[in-house]
Amino acid sequence: MFERERATAVAAVLRAAQVCEQVRAGFSHDDAHEKDDRSPVTIADFAAQAVIIDIIESMFPQDEIVGEEDAALLRGRDGALVADAVLRTLSPVLPGIHTDRLIHLLERGGGTGGRGKRFWTLDPIDGTKGFIRGDQYAIALALIEDGEVVLGVLGCPAFPVVGFASAEEERGILLDAVRGDESVWMRPMSNPQDTRAVHARMDVAPADAVFCESVEKAHTAQSRSSCIAEMLGVRAAPVRIDSQCKYAAVARGDADVYLRLPAKKGYVEKIWDHAAGAFIVQQAGGRVTDMDGRALDFAQGRELSLNRGIVATGGGLQDIVLNAIVRTQPPA
Ligand code: AMP
Ligand code: MG
Repeated sequence: MFERERATAVAAVLRAAQVCEQVRAGFSHDDAHEKDDRSPVTIADFAAQAVIIDIIESMFPQDEIVGEEDAALLRGRDGALVADAVLRTLSPVLPGIHTDRLIHLLERGGGTGGRGKRFWTLDPIDGTKGFIRGDQYAIALALIEDGEVVLGVLGCPAFPVVGFASAEEERGILLDAVRGDESVWMRPMSNPQDTRAVHARMDVAPADAVFCESVEKAHTAQSRSSCIAEMLGVRAAPVRIDSQCKYAAVARGDADVYLRLPAKKGYVEKIWDHAAGAFIVQQAGGRVTDMDGRALDFAQGRELSLNRGIVATGGGLQDIVLNAIVRTQPPA
C-alpha cells in the first residue's frame, strides 16, 4: 500500500535535505528573515518547501498540500531580494525556475486540510531555530486520508546515525512508515538503500526513562516536565532536541518520553509539526496522545485545535506519564 507515495515522499525529503544542508554550510545571517508572527524563516525553508511540492505535484497533481510556508515574505518590502536568494539556491535542483513558479509552489502549500479528503502536510524545516543555531532540525512530510495519517517521512539531516548519545561522527537519517506495513524504516542519508527497521523501547522502568523536550523554553513548560520526571524517579537529565527529531529519538529507542506541555495559554499546535513524527512513533510500537490522553485529531484543519500538548512514549510509560501530568500545575 502507498508504495508510489512512499517512494515519492522519501525522494522529495532526501532532495530537500541536500538543499538545506547546502544552505547551512554557507549560512549567513542574511539568509534568515522574520515572519509576521515574529518566528524565523530562512531561504532554506522556502527552497525545501518548493523542492518537495514540485515533486509531489508532478506525481500527484490532484493532491492538496498543507505546508507551513507561504509566499507572503516574497511579496513584502524585501521580497525581490528574498526571492532571488531562494532562486539561486534552487537553480541547480530545479533548472529554469523563476519567481512566478516559486510563488506558485509555495502557495500550493496553502491547503486547508480537514475531514473526508486526502492531503499532504509538510514542514520543510521544522525547528528553524535549531537549523540557524547549528543544532537539530527535521524535514517532515505526511499523507493524511480522512483524518488518519497513512504515511510519514522524517528527514533528520543532523541526527547521529548510530544513536543520539553516540560520539560517532556520521550524521543524517531518514525514517519512513506507511499504514499496513507495521514497521518504521531507517536509512542513513549517505546511503539511502541501506534500510533497517527500528523500534521504540517498550519496557523501560520509569526510573531509567530518558525524557526529551524542546530546546526552546517558549515551546514547552520545561519546569512542569521536570516535576513529572521527578515524580517518576527519573535519574537522567532531559535531552533537549529541536524539531520532530524528538519523535525520531523515541521511535528508535534513543529516548523514552517526549513531553510537550503548553508554556503559555492560547498556542495551538500545527498539524505539520506532529503528523509525520507521531505516526512514526506509533508505527514503531510507541504511543502518542495529547496531555489529556486524547488521540491527535488531524481532521480539524491546519491546527490541532481539539488537542492540548503532546505526550509520546515507547508505549509502556504512556499512562504513568498521563497520570503524573494531572498531578502537576500548569505554568502561571
Ligand atoms: P521544537 O523544535 O520542538 O521546539 O518545535 C518547533 C516548533 O514549535 C515550530 O515549528 C513552531 O511551529 C512551534 N511553536 C512555535 N511557538 C510555539 C509555542 N508557543 N508553543 C509550542 N510550539 C510552538
Ligand atoms: Mg515546525
